[in-house]
Amino acid sequence: MEFLKTLGIEGINPGTSTGRKHMESKETISSYTPTDGERIATVGVTSREQYDHVVEEAHKAFEVWKNMPAPQRGEIVRQIGQKLREYKEPLGKLVTYEMGKIYQEGLGEVQEMIDICDFAVGQSRMLYGKTMHSERPEHRMYEQWHPLGIVGIISAFNFPVAVWSWNAMIAAVCGNVMIWKGSEKTPLCAVAIQKIVAKVLKENDLPEGIFNLVTGDRQVGEWMTEDERIPLISATGSIRMGKEVGKTVASRLGKTILELGGNNAIIISENADLEMAIRATVFGAVGTCGQRCTSTRRLIIHESVYDQVKERLMSIYKNITIGDPLDENTLVGPMIDQDAIDLMQKALKEIEREGGKVIYGGEPLDEDGFYVRPALAEVQNHYNIVQEETFAPILYLMKYKTTEEAIEMHNGVKQGLSSAMFTLNMREAERFLSVGGSDCGIANINIGTSGAEIGGAFGGEKETGGGRESGSDSWKAYMRRQTNTMNWGDSLPLAQGIDFDV
Ligand code: NAD
Repeated sequence: MEFLKTLGIEGINPGTSTGRKHMESKETISSYTPTDGERIATVGVTSREQYDHVVEEAHKAFEVWKNMPAPQRGEIVRQIGQKLREYKEPLGKLVTYEMGKIYQEGLGEVQEMIDICDFAVGQSRMLYGKTMHSERPEHRMYEQWHPLGIVGIISAFNFPVAVWSWNAMIAAVCGNVMIWKGSEKTPLCAVAIQKIVAKVLKENDLPEGIFNLVTGDRQVGEWMTEDERIPLISATGSIRMGKEVGKTVASRLGKTILELGGNNAIIISENADLEMAIRATVFGAVGTCGQRCTSTRRLIIHESVYDQVKERLMSIYKNITIGDPLDENTLVGPMIDQDAIDLMQKALKEIEREGGKVIYGGEPLDEDGFYVRPALAEVQNHYNIVQEETFAPILYLMKYKTTEEAIEMHNGVKQGLSSAMFTLNMREAERFLSVGGSDCGIANINIGTSGAEIGGAFGGEKETGGGRESGSDSWKAYMRRQTNTMNWGDSLPLAQGIDFDV
């Protein structure tokens, strides 16, 4: 595989790195490709001793990095963006090969990293604080934002590189140093990115420890969440993981950004442009083989167009090309591993047990690799299985009569990430976006649930965790706010009119 050579990640790779220095480990984990189940390479697992060394180096680097002017930090991020542009194709292929999403999506994920670099460069000149009018004469009051220190980033397998960049690039221009633990299912992607970043650090003669990598399973993640030296943990993954991480970090009064599972729905109204709605639904439900946090899982369809939508979906699903994600004709690649297939099969049985009906697909394909046929099922919203996020390409079809009922079904789950309504009726659309409408962090009209632009704040409500990353003013989560008051007069008036003689 030429792209592995280009990225310098063939064979055995260091899974621990303090910026420019890569460290060898005794223990290793293997990286497999879901395309045929073959082992790609092995990656070192971070030992406790190495972990502590990484934290120390990060701490030292923070002393230098925090004192560099923010626009100069932005310049380093600009250079990282340039390097990612150079390596876009091999990186896109690696994401596809190790994670299983199709090549266009692999490239898209790398493009998202490039875009967030550009965004962060601009942000580095816009870490604005407000100026307030003091109630006291000859006083000036304002606020400023300072970096937090070490930001711990724990990421999931399905976005093996982009999620790191949403956090790391913004946190870096804010003046923080990063320790990243990627998913144990996609360790090579993390090593490849770290090597690219290391080149930029070296070219700029920057200290060790600005961007660090640790590798391993939840054990290494737990060292991070328990560690008082890490003031902020940004964790992306399942709700189970988020509840554990949230509790551990809260017990030491640390900060978290939690980006957890979704159970995203599209409402297709009787006033929808059905062609648009169906296109968005198919992409949202089968893209990345149903393994996006924003994947469309529930389709809430007005009864007057239900049969039409169902038939159209059935005929499209029959023609979906499933196979090697590196082949440009493929629309759906493999699932990540056998466990993911087993969970999908269990969910399909559960649907039938609760009274639902699988009306198309769902079966694993008789091939090497972890391929399945995306499934369609008719269900009721209250089924336990529908209430959960099954990280697989299963689309639930449900009927509604009134907009009120549709919104109630839509919001009637514990998760709150992404949501959409397809309608050309302005009243209905505005209602969906109003306070009485969608309860999710992302709500769209005539756009599906899947994917999001980096310019907006990304994240969700309820059990999705409440965190926000990427655009808008998400940068504030990576900084501490300081309120400053300057007295430039020669008296000492107290606030609240208090008179105090000494
Ligand atoms: P996962 O929860 O199994 O693992 C995610 C990461 O957390 C891994 O790096 C893992 O090692 C680590 N981890 C697990 N338990 C931990 C613990 N107790 N302490 C510290 N670290 C721990 O998730 P996954 O299977 O890799 O990813 C799929 C899930 O991620 C889905 O639920 C999906 O919706 C969610 N996700 C959410 C977003 C979002 O932005 N909201 C984005 C991508 C994925």
